[in-house]
Amino acid sequence: MSKPKVGRPPEVDKDGKVISKTLVNLTIPVTLKNFLDKHIKNRSEFFTKIVTMLYIGEICPKCYSDDYISKAPVGIECTDCEIWIKLNDCSNCGTRMDPRATVVQGLALDIPNPHYNPAHGSKQCSKCMEVKE
Ligand SMILES: [Zn+2]
Ligand SMILES: [Zn+2]
Repeated sequence: MSKPKVGRPPEVDKDGKVISKTLVNLTIPVTLKNFLDKHIKNRSEFFTKIVTMLYIGEICPKCYSDDYISKAPVGIECTDCEIWIKLNDCSNCGTRMDPRATVVQGLALDIPNPHYNPAHGSKQCSKCMEVKE
């Protein structure tokens, strides 16, 4: 009964569940519509991307929810997807802070994160703070 689908596989959430979609109607200037017809292949994808970009840090780019957004000195996280959406630069030395101990690289499993740089308090990162134990 199912025809082979063209295009990309459906977008899924962190549990592999297909993200449900809905139709929206927009009223926009005709010239803008003509421009979009010329330049944008997939308006649905484009709209989703643009809105997500505009609200980066307020909604999650994976689950599109704002329910699990958590702000920390190091950056902004979706606690449901367990992804960091935005990482802040250390206000003391300017190095990007990164609390992820491991990262996924290619097909490999988690490897130690070469940029691992957790925050110490709200102002300093590991790079500019000597931790004496
Ligand atoms: Zn999320
Ligand atoms: Zn620093």
